[in-house]
Amino acid sequence: MTRSNRPPGFATRAIHHGYDAKDHHRAVGTPIYMTSTFAFDSVDEAEAVAEAGGATYAREHNPTTAILEARLANLEGAEACVVVASGMAAVGTLLLSLLSQGDAIVVHETLYSNTFAMAHDGLPRFGIEVIPVDLANPANLDAVVSKRVKLVYFETPVNPTAQVLDIAAISARAHAMGAKVVVDSTFASPAVQRPIEHGADLVLHSLTKYINGHGDMLGGAVAGDAASIAKLRGLGLRYITGATLSPMAAFLVLRGMKTLALRMERHGSNALAVANMLAAHPKVAWVRYPFLPGSPTLALAQKQMSNGSAMLSFGLKDGFEGARRLMDGLELVQRAVSLGDAESLIMHPGSLTRARQRTRPEARLATGVTEDLIRLSVGLEDEADLLEDFSRALARV
Ligand code: PLP
Repeated sequence: MTRSNRPPGFATRAIHHGYDAKDHHRAVGTPIYMTSTFAFDSVDEAEAVAEAGGATYAREHNPTTAILEARLANLEGAEACVVVASGMAAVGTLLLSLLSQGDAIVVHETLYSNTFAMAHDGLPRFGIEVIPVDLANPANLDAVVSKRVKLVYFETPVNPTAQVLDIAAISARAHAMGAKVVVDSTFASPAVQRPIEHGADLVLHSLTKYINGHGDMLGGAVAGDAASIAKLRGLGLRYITGATLSPMAAFLVLRGMKTLALRMERHGSNALAVANMLAAHPKVAWVRYPFLPGSPTLALAQKQMSNGSAMLSFGLKDGFEGARRLMDGLELVQRAVSLGDAESLIMHPGSLTRARQRTRPEARLATGVTEDLIRLSVGLEDEADLLEDFSRALARV
């Protein structure tokens, strides 16, 4: 049978792209290259490889991580990708490679708590101006007068609110002001949302979450144009953060990605069922989920996402205390701060922030995060078991 010219679909590329068993002793499983350096036949050869930016030392190059980078770039529709040791390493490597003293960055007013801390407490220490803007209305960007804005940075869906921001509208306005757009797409994964298709320049991921999907490693990635990624690798990874992803972790992500498309379908259907159930419950005050019927951003979510992914936020009529009682009443869903795993995980930023304030008085909830907000990462369990767990726990609130 001859192959058609039709390009392979997403699930096929998530399994095969960038790997040919013929190049690896016919091994079908991806080999893990546990080496810190590479040897050459001659000084001339070593120099030629170094000059071409090839593999000389594993802080910046490793054959296993290179397969992961090629695959992620392909899935995001990007020219190139660099993987690093965690999602926060991706944030740090990106911002400290692309911004310099005197530059400015626009960020959405709500961000993942540690990215929020990086923006508000970290970057100003290096002379970088941070301008928080409510990007729910992209026109708010027009009020930014600074000529020094190099990046516009946001998450969609936003952590922990699950708010959806308009990638195309924000990108058009950011480009008009001469800034590059970075989207942290961790809550969606490329199976559900590909920001570059909607006008973004760079996509950031915590690989720890859906892309790996099994809660057994930490990793991060940035995909985008080749020149920016070369900067992240050549400056950020080489001498600013040095936060290299281990080849073992890269292997785990490659293994997890083989089921990414399948997992995201199940995550999406489970999450929609839980969101609908919560929205109809008399003890629940509000629910935010991208694909929730009646959501004010439903049409926008449907424009840029293929399903609602599995992150939702909600609040109970009993507020802060009700959130704690509900969480303690759950038996199947686990109280844990991560997300994107096979296991359903639930967390309450309000309680966590109060606990952190006991040792770090400066800890605060990100703008837009209310004290009653509960964040839920819906896993891959049977829908009926999840619904039963929530019904039972809500009955006890
Ligand atoms: N970005 C988002 C949206 C996240 O949710 C997280 C972690 O929860 C990160 C970045 C940081 O990723 P990591 O925990 O892998 O450092």
